[in-house]
Amino acid sequence: MHRLGLDPGRVDVMFISHFHGDHVLGLPPFLLQRALVSKGRLDIVGPPRIAEQLGQLLDLAWAGEWTSLSAGLTLCFHQAEGPGTVAGITYTPVALDHGSIGCTGYRIHIGGKVLAYAGDSEPTEALDQLVEGADVAIVEATAPGSVHSHTGWEEARQLRDRHPQTLFFFNHLYAGTLEGAARDLQTVNV
Ligand SMILES: [Zn+2]
Ligand SMILES: [Zn+2]
Repeated sequence: MHRLGLDPGRVDVMFISHFHGDHVLGLPPFLLQRALVSKGRLDIVGPPRIAEQLGQLLDLAWAGEWTSLSAGLTLCFHQAEGPGTVAGITYTPVALDHGSIGCTGYRIHIGGKVLAYAGDSEPTEALDQLVEGADVAIVEATAPGSVHSHTGWEEARQLRDRHPQTLFFFNHLYAGTLEGAARDLQTVNV
């Protein structure tokens, strides 16, 4: 966020899709910044047991000192069990298929537009329901071919073609030496 010139203190609400490490292990340093620098209140929407799961993560990350470190931060957890409104943002959770734990996608209403966010998902009917009619969709596209419990590049292309009115941003891309892989923060027009 600092590299992009974004102030972490301006985030009012976060939506957590699931508790796999690549989706939550960035939270402890972010939340420490909020606790020590920005302070104030932060709302977090997530799957069942969101408060318990993040509580355990923060206790582990900050060696049991999180409670005293976070005295200046008010964290408010919301279980995404149906449509809701948090910090003025209306959202609808959508249950997605992702291995054995599943994933919670969100349709988020901002300024008359709909943003669909998937997290991780197999390319099943639930993913189509998540992005149906959305103005913008942020969806994973992990790697070429068939990827266990994820969406492959060709499947992502087919999803985009089924929803031509939606602007797609694909994330969760394999990087490194894989042919066709994107570099960090690179934008590729597909
Ligand atoms: Zn995952
Ligand atoms: Zn992931």
